[in-house]
Amino acid sequence: MTTTDAPYAPSTQRKPQLKIGTFVIAQGESTYIGQSDQGIEYEGVHVRRILSSFAGVRTCQEIASDLECDLDSVTSLVDELDELHFLDTQRTPIILSDRYQSPDSEEGCENDLDATFQQIKSKIRPELSLTTWRPGVRDGGIALVGERQKQPVHIYGNSRIALMLYGILLNSGVSQTILIPEETSRAISDVDLAVGFLQPADFGFSLNGRIAALRPELSLFPLNCAGADSTRALVVNVGPPQPELLQVWMSECIPHLFIEDPECASITIGPLVVPGSTPCWRCTVLTQDDEHIAWTEVQWQRRLSARAETPVSVAHHVAGLAALEVLRFIDTGHSDLLGSTIRINYLSAMETARRTFLHHPACGCHW
Ligand SMILES: [Zn+2]
Repeated sequence: MTTTDAPYAPSTQRKPQLKIGTFVIAQGESTYIGQSDQGIEYEGVHVRRILSSFAGVRTCQEIASDLECDLDSVTSLVDELDELHFLDTQRTPIILSDRYQSPDSEEGCENDLDATFQQIKSKIRPELSLTTWRPGVRDGGIALVGERQKQPVHIYGNSRIALMLYGILLNSGVSQTILIPEETSRAISDVDLAVGFLQPADFGFSLNGRIAALRPELSLFPLNCAGADSTRALVVNVGPPQPELLQVWMSECIPHLFIEDPECASITIGPLVVPGSTPCWRCTVLTQDDEHIAWTEVQWQRRLSARAETPVSVAHHVAGLAALEVLRFIDTGHSDLLGSTIRINYLSAMETARRTFLHHPACGCHW
């Protein structure tokens, strides 16, 4: 998974810029810096003068020189705001796989004539409003979003949730996302049109062919397989997992996330399994079998029953939540779904039940 441990420049050489969403509020002689519920107050109007130079272009040394002020007053302000995670202090170019690098990005003067780059820049900004706030990020989140291009994600399933997740991850910069439908010959139906990126004109066409054709349109970055590392693929399984696939993911140490089919008016997301490290699917099966007398029989009946599609509102909610956790795992290697599940009740979506599992003693996954 991606790390953010880049060598950190000395205070004088950092190029400070306030993170997206951080405000500077003048209150008489004092200055408040932060968000609505978290921030810091400084006495003296000189702070505002220094802050006005925080554009991510000039170093602390250059700012002190331009403003003819004490270098220590600039670096101490930068150190304090950096500690509070309100500052970006590094510049990282946007690298599009191995093909292209934003020109002159160190000086912040990208070529305005490069339409592709400008389009990506505007589309990437909402993603940066998330990644810049990840712990340890000091470059505005650009490196994390850029690294998403190299992460293959294989989505198994062809429900609304699987399709929505496919679209969200591609739009979020995970360019190596592919969808593996259970039925390769399946045609697009009326029900599928709710996912957003399929049109009535797509009705009846091959789902496989259409989603492959739409990949370039959905992807935040230009598609380029160079740089992808298939040995570190991440799997998302939507629906009941196939035993032979479970075996492959476990034996090849492929992290995999489960999104179950709906059960009555609820649906379960998780666990996210890191083989050899966190409780596996079988651990959760054995645990629930121990707890409920009819659990195994109900699971068999669910498999034999006709598959139920989720309501549109639920599908969007679940795909969005799952995508956030997948992106978190790609960006940081962490997720609240590691060894855990959440169960969403359609009737009371805010009352999500979260459950943590342990390794089951009868399962050999942690030996
Ligand atoms: Zn296990």
